[in-house]
Order: sequence, then structure tokens, then C-alpha cells
Amino acid sequence: MAKIQTPQRIRGTQDIFGEEQRRFAAVLDAFDRVRRLYCFQRVDIPVFESTAVFARSLGETTDVVSKEMYTFEDRGGDSITLRPEFTAGIARAFLTEGWQQYAPLKLATSGPVFRYERPQKGRFRQFHQIDAEVIGAAEPMADVELLAFADQLLRELGISDGVTLQLNTLGDAATRDAWRAALVEHFQSHRAELSEDSLARLDKNPLRILDSKDPRDRPIADSAPDIDQFLTAEAADFFGAVTGGLDAAGVAWTRNARLVRGLDYYRHTAFEFVTDRLGAQGTVLAGGRYDGLIESLGGNPTPGVGWAAGVERLAMLIAEPAVERVDVAVISDSPELEPEAKRLAALLRNCGYSVYQSYRNGSKKQAEAARKAKATGIIYVRPGDQLHMTVVDHDRYSREWWLRLLADIGDPYAAMHVTSDQA
Ligand code: ATP
Ligand code: MG
Repeated sequence: MAKIQTPQRIRGTQDIFGEEQRRFAAVLDAFDRVRRLYCFQRVDIPVFESTAVFARSLGETTDVVSKEMYTFEDRGGDSITLRPEFTAGIARAFLTEGWQQYAPLKLATSGPVFRYERPQKGRFRQFHQIDAEVIGAAEPMADVELLAFADQLLRELGISDGVTLQLNTLGDAATRDAWRAALVEHFQSHRAELSEDSLARLDKNPLRILDSKDPRDRPIADSAPDIDQFLTAEAADFFGAVTGGLDAAGVAWTRNARLVRGLDYYRHTAFEFVTDRLGAQGTVLAGGRYDGLIESLGGNPTPGVGWAAGVERLAMLIAEPAVERVDVAVISDSPELEPEAKRLAALLRNCGYSVYQSYRNGSKKQAEAARKAKATGIIYVRPGDQLHMTVVDHDRYSREWWLRLLADIGDPYAAMHVTSDQA
């Protein structure tokens, strides 16, 4: 018979297991803890949307829309796209689900996103983001609160030391138009030296050239005119309010006048938290204000600001999380006592203790498995309603802990022997 070929994992996807999974979970736990401190509501939105949701809002010329989207026709002939980010889907929901009534709406979400990119360290085709948005607030204090949220999250993850907040303003529409014209003029005068990609961007999206990673573009991008001289008084005031708010909230930042964001919808504040510890994939969290986005989806003018971070990149930076705790293993000395062991295990779990159970082999092998699972102790169920506790993890075990456990389960046993073994 022909050997059956096992289908392989798709390139750029991940099976997240073991330590990697614990790192992943630690990032998501911290995100959920901190978003509660900032009173951001959890929201969940679809993994796929009509292609128009992303094509219209992100901008047709952006990398994401022009070459990274997973787009397909479904069986009904509709063009569907797997979400490459969260903001556009949340903005769509804001409009179609009548969430305008809750504005300003502070939302947090997380989950898989999809981009057809060249896979490498810290860059996947299915990756995961955490995301925070404030929709319906034009106030600079919304930007400040979001940045403080991001900053506290990175601190709670223990990685803020190697990470800096780079901040820029992209101004309002008038500022951007004037700056754009000056950039086009500057880049036109260096046409011959620009990369092919940047030449293509020159007409459609010249700001993006500032963000180019191509070494041929860097000197030209670095010598381009700053936005500052084009800022309207309003745009300058807005930026001043954001930086003032950050200083008051104790959030450290540095100005990066070259920082632009990859998507078209950004206005005013743009930012990235950057580390030098991940090589080329140095941006761990990024976002900005997107006052034009909701209109591009057919809504009334509605301001918004938000950020997203790559869970994988954060997970690589944090210290290794502890393994999940196992309180006790319950082992019966003989097959007749198995029901008693099951009863005790159920009792312990109902009291909130984690209980490791093996399914096979004698008590000796089961004890080995319990040690491997890093149980604090092993409870042996012995004839005559006797329990015998063997301490495995002396660091975690204390007599008080054991007595509390016995009190919790109501100590229904006639006799109790607690011994600690040194093995
Ligand atoms: P990059 O410049 O690295 O491509 P980006 O500007 O495309 O990033 P955003 O669209 O701002 O990234 O997404 C927010 C965050 O998501 C990034 O800062 C990064 O941490 C993460 N991220 C983006 N693309 C990937 C990917 N392909 N694999 C893993 N994480 C990613
Ligand atoms: Mg990208």
C-alpha cells in the first residue's frame, strides 16, 4: 500500500506549545489585567470581513493591501479577506452595529491576524495581535491614556527597559498636504537614487518613502524636510497637549520626526515602541490617530486613536514564565482504592486545588509522573481510610499550606500521616 504523506504545517503559521505557549499566555494575561485598569471593554470581532473593509480604510497603495492580504472568493462569490489587523474591523462594527451611541468607546481585543509576508524570525503569516482603540474621542488625552496603557503593559511584562517610545505627529489635513508637497519635491530631485519600490510610492504615497528599509532610500529619506515647519497652529497645539500629557503621566518618549505609519489613515499622533533586541523586527507595539478612517468606510466624521502589538514579539522579550503549578497528585496504593482516590481528587478540585492524575501503571510509576509534573506533593490513598502525604517540592510546601488543604477538604479521614521525603 502506498505510504500516506502527512500534510505539513503551512509556511508562516505556528503550533504554539510548551514554553512558547506559556510566554504567549503571559502576554495575554498581562494585557487583560492592564486593560481592566484602564477600563477598556473587551470586544471580539470576526476573523474575516468583506475585502472592502480593509481595501478602503487601509489604503490601496499600502503594503498590507497591495501585497499582504489573504483574499479569496467564498462559495457565494463574495470577496472575503482574513483580517490583517483589527482597527478596520472595529471601525466597521462601530458603524454597522450602532456603537456610535457608546462613544467615546474604549475597546480592547486580541487574536490571530493574517498577512502574506516572507516568514522569518518574528514575522509570520498567521500571527497574533493585542489591540486597543478609543473611537469617538478627538481629545489629545485619549492619545495619552492609550500610550500610558501601552507603557504600563510593557512595564508589567518586564520589558520596558529595552524599549523606547518613539513619537511623531503627522499633523492635520492642511499640514499633511503642505508636507506631502515638500516631500514630493525633495524626492523628485533624487529620483535617480531611489529604489524601485519608492519610485512607485512617489506619486501615490510619498510619506511611505520615509519608512523605507531599503539602504538606497535611507539617506534621501533622512535628508527629507521635517513636518515641523508645516504644522498648523492647531496641529502643533495638539501635539503639545499629547507630549505634555505624557510627561504628566510619567511616560517617557523620544521624538522621531521620520516616523510614519504604514497605513494611510493616520493623522496627528503616530508612535512605535521599539527595541534593539529583536534585530530587524524591532517594532513591538505601534499605532496612532486615525481621524479619517471611519469616513473612508462611509460613516460620519469620527475621530479615533489606537495601537496594536505583536504577541509573538512581546512573548520573545519577556522572561521565561513559571510552569503552571500542580498542587498535588493523588495516587491509590491498590486498584480497590481507586474509587476513593477519584473521590478525593474530585473533592480537592472542587476546593480549587489542581490535581495531577495518571491513567495507568502502578503507584511507583505514577509517583514518577507526579514528580515530572512538578506536583508540590503526592497524596497516597491507603487502606483503612488513611492518607499519606509525600512532599515533592520543598520550596513550595509548608505545613500551613498542607493544613489549609486539609481544612478545605474537611479532613474526612480517620488518620493522617504526613511525612516529607528527601528524594
Ligand atoms: P513591520 O514594519 O515589522 O512589518 P508593521 O508596521 O507592518 O510592522 P503593524 O501593522 O503596525 O506592523 O502591526 C503592529 C504590530 O504587529 C507590529 O509592531 C509587530 O509587533 C506585529 N507584526 C506585524 N507584522 C507581523 C508579522 N508578520 N509577524 C509577527 N508580528 C507582526
Ligand atoms: Mg509590515
